[in-house]
Amino acid sequence: MSNTREIDLTDSNARLNYLQRIFDSSLNGIMVFRAVRDAENRIIDFEWVMANTKAGELTGRPADELVGKRVLDMMPETLNDVLFAQYVRLIETGETVDYEHHHKYGDFEPWLHVTASPLDDGFVAIFTDISQQKQLKDDLIAKHDELDRFFLLAMDMLCIANTDGYFLKVNKAWEDTLGYSITETENRSILDFVHPDDVQATIKAVGELSAQKPVLNFINRYRHKHGGYRTIEWRGVPQGKLIYAAARDVTGQKELEANQAQLIGIVESTLSGIIGKNLDDIIIAWNPGAEAIYGYTAEEMIGQSIDRLVPKDRVHELAANLDRAKAGGYVDRYETVRIRKDGTRVNVALTISPIKDKHNQVIGVSTINQDIGELKKTQDALRESEARYRAIVDTMTEGVLLQLSDGTIQACNTAAERILGLTLDQMMRRTPTNFTWRTINEDGTPLPTTQLPHMLTLTTGKPQSNMTMGVCKADLPVTWVLVNSEPLFQPDSALPYAAVSTFVDITDRKQMEKQRLVLELEKERVKLLAQFIEQSSHEFRTPLTVMQSSLSVLMQTDNEAKREQKAAVIEAQIDGLTRLVDMLQRMSQLDSRGSIELEPGLVNDIVAEVAATTQYAAAEAHVKLRFEAGEGLPSVLLNEDYLQEAIRQLVENAIRYTPAEGTVTLCTTQQDSSVIIEIADTGIGIPADSLPHIFERFYRLDSAHSTPGFGLGLPIAQSIVETHGGKIVVESEPHKGSVFKIMLPCA
Ligand code: ADP
Repeated sequence: MSNTREIDLTDSNARLNYLQRIFDSSLNGIMVFRAVRDAENRIIDFEWVMANTKAGELTGRPADELVGKRVLDMMPETLNDVLFAQYVRLIETGETVDYEHHHKYGDFEPWLHVTASPLDDGFVAIFTDISQQKQLKDDLIAKHDELDRFFLLAMDMLCIANTDGYFLKVNKAWEDTLGYSITETENRSILDFVHPDDVQATIKAVGELSAQKPVLNFINRYRHKHGGYRTIEWRGVPQGKLIYAAARDVTGQKELEANQAQLIGIVESTLSGIIGKNLDDIIIAWNPGAEAIYGYTAEEMIGQSIDRLVPKDRVHELAANLDRAKAGGYVDRYETVRIRKDGTRVNVALTISPIKDKHNQVIGVSTINQDIGELKKTQDALRESEARYRAIVDTMTEGVLLQLSDGTIQACNTAAERILGLTLDQMMRRTPTNFTWRTINEDGTPLPTTQLPHMLTLTTGKPQSNMTMGVCKADLPVTWVLVNSEPLFQPDSALPYAAVSTFVDITDRKQMEKQRLVLELEKERVKLLAQFIEQSSHEFRTPLTVMQSSLSVLMQTDNEAKREQKAAVIEAQIDGLTRLVDMLQRMSQLDSRGSIELEPGLVNDIVAEVAATTQYAAAEAHVKLRFEAGEGLPSVLLNEDYLQEAIRQLVENAIRYTPAEGTVTLCTTQQDSSVIIEIADTGIGIPADSLPHIFERFYRLDSAHSTPGFGLGLPIAQSIVETHGGKIVVESEPHKGSVFKIMLPCA
């Protein structure tokens, strides 16, 4: 500098002066102190040795006033300062002081940075005013805190991540949006949260940020802690290895957009015509459906008045409806006529509603238009075909009933009225239980309501066909009906909502059938009778022939011995015929009686009686007859005489068809709920091919009649056992013997 004077620093005065000037003009406060000690040499205070101008400013006193003064005298509060203790330690240990001190002196409260180092028995302290820096720092901290709070509390999801894709810091909004706490998110990889399908795109976005390019409006899906995904829109800015990003949950918005798109799609694709009008009846929207109905394109109609669609005679009607919608009301399915572009008329159904803005103000009117021309035609056709069906149903001779799932009659035809003998009014909305009816099965047993064909159809969902049932009304004869019942289903329903029953009156048919049956039975009876007469006359003819020839010998001869012999033959034949007549009578009695009187009795008593009465015949034939009576047998319902006769027939057969020295064993047992009477013999047995026939009347194996018998014993026994509710079974083997078993139900 030109005006700088050269100073000769070799001159000690000049040098002192120079130092003095630097000392005084320093921007730092510089003070030199000397320790003040007590008698024990303890430092009790400090005395200013030197102080520069700045030091004076900082302490709030002129510097020259300080020199020679004691610190505690000038500033007694200094004793409590940390600084004072540090000065003492500095002198005692030589440890330098480097300290930030908030100096308070009256209103003057600077922040001072103090460095002090020992000098003789004192120290030199240099003070720098750092109040401003301090303020700046505080401001910075406050700002940082503010940002931190803002970061934490911001509604947007904010985060700091690194370019390796790890979250470093996230705010509370993350927790609120995705459910993971801040600590669960921080230091985790971003990809841990990303929807698998969005991982590639996310990696790409992080790549862009690493390349220091900002990423705006990036959308990906994040897994929510409690399931599902949220759609998140991102804006990220890179700064070195850090990424600062703000994100928003746009899930709802995305759905809304999708919904909106869907709605637009619906409006565009719907077959109904949708027309929007403003309050001046000018068309503002016209969808393809409207074009299909009226023939005008959207270009032709938007901006036009709706009037061109309306026939003259309908104008007033339109105005009334539009006014209603403009007042916020709705008009639901109102049928009217409109004019197409080609001038033809079209039947339409209109649903008119107001269009409102977000403040709920009506700003227009929308109409949904449906071409009901086809519908009308279909309806007419339906009505026509229904009428046709109705006519057919009514002229049918078959009764038709429609019954709902609770059995109530919903519809019926005239034939149903006629067959059931009830009027339409008597039947409608009633159930068959409301009538004084009794329904019966074909065999006459009661048919409960739940088993009626339509009820079975309603409860099972299955059709019932050709069920015969009788309807008994008061004293009238039974009406027999043949019923078919079909279920009716609603779509997607497993059980029918109704059943249609059709039925025909078969009372006459049944009557005829019955007559036919009686006739047939009669025929059968006559046939059997003829057969019986034929067979029995055959049985009579043989003995009669024998008797006739014996009688002619008897009459022609005088030989006494011969006459006696022939008389004996005739007698024997008469005996035989008497027995035959007895048996025929028995047979006819059994045939005509149908039932015999039964009472509880013990089978053993009956068998013992038969064994006793046949003992003689057995002895004569040299056949051993044994009876093994079962013990503790229950009683059975029996007719003593008849049952004895049945058993006797079997025992006599057993004796007759068992050669001498054979055995006939009678035994009684119980098997389940039956008492069994067994007649076993060691006789000639019966060939297998004859077994099925032995119970037929007049059937005999011995066609040569070499053994006595008429082939009526077994039929009689069987008939008796059957009237006891039992049965006879037989097992036999030729040359080994036969076993006949009578099974009777226990009483
Ligand atoms: P019949 O009076 O001829 O014995 P049944 O009706 O009693 O008439 O028997 C019919 C036929 O069955 C007999 O003719 C006989 O051939 C055969 N039969 C019946 N019981 C026996 C038996 N215990 N052993 C062998 N054959 C028998």
